[in-house]
Amino acid sequence: MVDKTFIVEKTCPICEKTMRVVKTRSRIMVTKRDDDACTHYEDFNPYYYTVWVCEHCGFAADENTFTTKIPDRHLNLLRSVLLTRNIKIPFVAKRTVENASTAFRLALKYLEIIHGKASKKAKYAHQLAWIYRIAGDKEQETEFLQKAAEYYEEALAKEHFPIDALTDNAVVYLVAAIYRRLGDNQKATLYLSKIIGDQGVRTREPRVYDKARDLWGDMRAGRKN
Ligand SMILES: [Zn+2]
Repeated sequence: MVDKTFIVEKTCPICEKTMRVVKTRSRIMVTKRDDDACTHYEDFNPYYYTVWVCEHCGFAADENTFTTKIPDRHLNLLRSVLLTRNIKIPFVAKRTVENASTAFRLALKYLEIIHGKASKKAKYAHQLAWIYRIAGDKEQETEFLQKAAEYYEEALAKEHFPIDALTDNAVVYLVAAIYRRLGDNQKATLYLSKIIGDQGVRTREPRVYDKARDLWGDMRAGRKN
């Protein structure tokens, strides 16, 4: 069997040492997609590896953060925290739920330090919730879904969209899907109606519109996700 991961070396933007990261091969089989975009794969969970951790200084973030220039004021803040402490997070080639959870929690903590964007915090919290979902830990999944919904709401209020490939309507849909999973049908309905009640979305973003309509139908029929 071919390995689903491989190891590459990168330079840490904080301590500038050479660190190892685990990358996932692109050819892994998708088995299902949940209504909040969580993708399940055959015998493997690539979300475990989306946050990179520097084995020397403990900096943790997604690949994009590691490979894009970090503004000097953020570098100064992060270096003042990380390089004055001896945070040792050993390199792990095959992460467990705990390893992945540590990586995501650190990434969220560093975003707090630099007052990072809510949309990015939402992405980390949402992916960590998916890791717990796939691992069957309902309690932690709920905790991080709640955080993800709140960060997405903050992003909708404060940020300019689209962010990466995500439009504001796509985020409104995600928030609805998350609140439905959390059992808050009132909030889910509120967000879904913003999409379904807007003919412009139907024309411009038919995929988002259709997903919202499907979720609405499931809710009305009392179907569980
Ligand atoms: Zn480092």
